[in-house]
Amino acid sequence: MRVRVDASRCVGHGMCTLAAPDIFQLSDEDGHAYVLSQDVPAVLDEAVRQAERGCPEQAIIVDAAA
Ligand code: SF4
Repeated sequence: MRVRVDASRCVGHGMCTLAAPDIFQLSDEDGHAYVLSQDVPAVLDEAVRQAERGCPEQAIIVDAAA
């Protein structure tokens, strides 16, 4: 699974950083989320899915086939 954040949608709620702190962090510079690793370890798949579902802006883009 691969994941990225669409910066044009992200408004910096930070909910993703609570759901999957090992993948998502908030930038000190612009307040938007970014991913620490685009390639998600299998053990974090569900946490990333939870972040995807919980993002109010639908800014988290998951590619499950990658
Ligand atoms: S929950 Fe969505 S909008 Fe909020 S910081 Fe994370 S990616 Fe951005």
